[in-house]
Amino acid sequence: MEYRINCIGILTSGGDAPGMNAAIRSVTRTAIFNGIRVKAIYRGYSGFITGEIKEFETQNVSNIIQQGGTILKTARCDEFKTPEGRRKVYDRMVEEEIDALVVIGGDGTLTGARILAQEFNVPIVGVPATIDNDLFGTDSTLGYDTALNTIMEAVDKIRDTASSHNRLFFIEVMGRDAGFLALNSAIASGAEAAIIPEKETKADQLAELIKNGFRKSKNSSIVLVAESDVTGGANGLAERMRREYPEYDVRVVILGHIQRGGSPTAYDRILASRMGVAAIDALLDGQRSIMIGVVNNQIVHVPFTKAIKDDKPLDEHLVSVLHILSI
Ligand code: ADP
Repeated sequence: MEYRINCIGILTSGGDAPGMNAAIRSVTRTAIFNGIRVKAIYRGYSGFITGEIKEFETQNVSNIIQQGGTILKTARCDEFKTPEGRRKVYDRMVEEEIDALVVIGGDGTLTGARILAQEFNVPIVGVPATIDNDLFGTDSTLGYDTALNTIMEAVDKIRDTASSHNRLFFIEVMGRDAGFLALNSAIASGAEAAIIPEKETKADQLAELIKNGFRKSKNSSIVLVAESDVTGGANGLAERMRREYPEYDVRVVILGHIQRGGSPTAYDRILASRMGVAAIDALLDGQRSIMIGVVNNQIVHVPFTKAIKDDKPLDEHLVSVLHILSI
């Protein structure tokens, strides 16, 4: 059956990530270019329930490509996790004559989208945006590259003070249960080690590594730690080191929310622009319940079920690169 899309809804949901605005701009302008109206929903799925919806023209997305955060705001909407909440969302979509949705967000956002699409047969395409890079089927998610650069700059600064005092720094970065940020920022900043949930590192191994570093007249050591119950976080590790190796002057830095902010890098802006165009192309092509991804610099379509469920593998080559270069 021919299904014509006259109007799309667009929203950002869950954790914010730099590049979301660039994606909003791209989706909006590509839709309008193709003669499709755009309705922006504010504060994630909550905006459907509260009716915070506004029609966008091209000028509504002017001058935002360089801004971090999201002009649509974002929210965690618990009501959407209930069948009654999703019914309200669907009813509002019908009332607003929205035929299809583009949702920009992470794992939770796409999980919600998958359920809504299934329950009400709504065409939905997702754009992956999370600094954690933990969605399967895409080499990169929006915001990840910007967060990596933010961490790298912070670690460079910490290195200056660390080497002036012969200190051992544990720097905790975000990532939930994924080690992409910790591993790659460790490589980019020349850190001695990365403690990531995907790899077990014993306290002895870590101490050995650091001891070697100091012995070879390095005058500071920096270890990137992924926030995670598995790694114990930077505070947990530091406590163990202090107890077992009191000779080290151990310090902890939790980078926290600065990792989410800032103007997106060129890479994230270009990726967001490409993904936004691809999202509308996919909808026009009759695709639904897929996430736009990028693999080997080519745009791909990943079914929601795969993007959410499958664990994204860590590149073992990167683990050995860090190991070789930190001796
Ligand atoms: P992220 O998209 O960054 O992973 P969250 O996990 O907070 O962020 O999810 C964002 C929103 O997506 C939630 O507030 C909720 O509205 C929706 N969502 C998440 N998980 C589900 C679920 N299991 N069922 C329905 N909606 C969900």
